[in-house]
Amino acid sequence: MNSFLAAFLSLVTLVWALDLPPTPAGVALPWALRQHALHLTGLWSFSLLSLAILLATRPTWLERPLGGMDRLYRLHKCAGIVAIGFAALHWLVELSDDAIRALFGREGRLPKAHDTGLVEAMRDAAEGFGEWAIYALLAMLALTLWKRFPYRPWRQQHRIMPMLYVMLAMHAAFLAPTDYWAGTTGLLLAVLIAAGTASAVQSLAGRVGRARQVGGTIESVREPAPGLTEVVCRLDRGWRGHESGQFAFASFDRSEGAHPFTIARADRGDGRVTFQIKALGDYTRGLAARLRPGQPVTIEGPYGRFDHRRAARGSAQIWIAGGIGVTPFLAWLEALAAAPQDVPHADFYYCTPRRADDPFVPRLEALCAQLPTIRLHVLSADRDERLSARTLQGALPDGAAAEIWFCGPRHFADALRHGFRELGARRVRFHQEAFELR
Ligand SMILES: Cc1cc2nc3c(=O)[nH]c(=O)nc-3n(C[C@H](O)[C@H](O)[C@H](O)COP(=O)(O)OP(=O)(O)OC[C@H]3O[C@@H](n4cnc5c(N)ncnc54)[C@H](O)[C@@H]3O)c2cc1C
Repeated sequence: MNSFLAAFLSLVTLVWALDLPPTPAGVALPWALRQHALHLTGLWSFSLLSLAILLATRPTWLERPLGGMDRLYRLHKCAGIVAIGFAALHWLVELSDDAIRALFGREGRLPKAHDTGLVEAMRDAAEGFGEWAIYALLAMLALTLWKRFPYRPWRQQHRIMPMLYVMLAMHAAFLAPTDYWAGTTGLLLAVLIAAGTASAVQSLAGRVGRARQVGGTIESVREPAPGLTEVVCRLDRGWRGHESGQFAFASFDRSEGAHPFTIARADRGDGRVTFQIKALGDYTRGLAARLRPGQPVTIEGPYGRFDHRRAARGSAQIWIAGGIGVTPFLAWLEALAAAPQDVPHADFYYCTPRRADDPFVPRLEALCAQLPTIRLHVLSADRDERLSARTLQGALPDGAAAEIWFCGPRHFADALRHGFRELGARRVRFHQEAFELR
């Protein structure tokens, strides 16, 4: 993620540096440096915001290069946070003229642009847009990082983002130096403004993901255990089917909007999808009591690239599910049971709070009984059975490369990654399906 953003920013910087105009005669170095810093921080911030808003439209063509929709969302979040950081820096550089004047004097300042009429009015307005948008972005960043702020109001306020983007696009278009437009930086800005504005309009018109939405009805609703809802939906024509391990956005209720859930069964080509939904918050709590067979649903997807077939040949496969993170593995196992020739050798660790009353354990045991090369290990937290990087490393043949496929709580994944780093395990690749988009 970080290396992608670093490469993206390096490219933007290179384009900017390629046609950097010479400093006009008589301009002192501190003022020239301030001007470059102002333009570069503005360009970094705006290009990252354009990337973030493009990613928010769920572009499926980027799933393959970026590794799946959940990673794309993480990149969206990361790009947005760094963009706001650069926007704040841009604003501080803008405010730095008093400090430069106090330290180095007025001599050698850049000559002021003298616009008139409409251009002057537009530039003044663009400056105001930029300033207000930065305040709004900083407020939004604070709410995003404050994890206790509830998801629903956060999502509502996040909807103003495309409006803010349009304001910032005007700021960039009217305040970028005029000579940019004759060179590569102008070309880059034009592409960013066009792609970003088109994405913002798509979001404002409520058209994100529209091409992948299909209607359907709820066929059955069960509560296999307290706090767990199983929903089977029958979809209308137009559903393109799914790969095991993929997820979809399900809207059971228009006013609530769409929630992402993994499709917990393999595709049988019958237009049915099954979700196993754990009560993890306001909406999912008590869901079984609110849903009824026959109720209309809208499903958008499928998305994601959580697929063990992407593993490198010859490496040991370790599958780890924590709690409700078992859902993609249920779909994998079902698909493999129907295609025994494709079954890999894998150690599958399912970590559950209480094995005794977990409805997934008998299902996993039944599926794995048909797949002798998948070794199921059920670890129950109430019996103090814990999984650690050391245990996993110890089970690997000496020096063997391993591919870990993980779906579960974030702190569990972080602990395992940290453990592998501490052990110096270099030949371990970690694939994680993130159950969090915010
Ligand atoms: C790729 C993916 C696959 C998932 N698969 C499953 C699954 O198979 N079974 C399961 O039980 N859970 C799954 N989840 C988690 C599930 O989406 C959330 O638990 C659910 O949306 C919580 O909603 P809530 O309103 O009850 O909780 P809240 O308390 O409102 O939210 C809790 C957290 O859930 C996430 N969330 C809430 N609403 C949305 C939304 N509309 N869009 C995106 N994220 C949201 C946010 O991170 C939020 O902080 C998956 C999540 C993702 C990203």
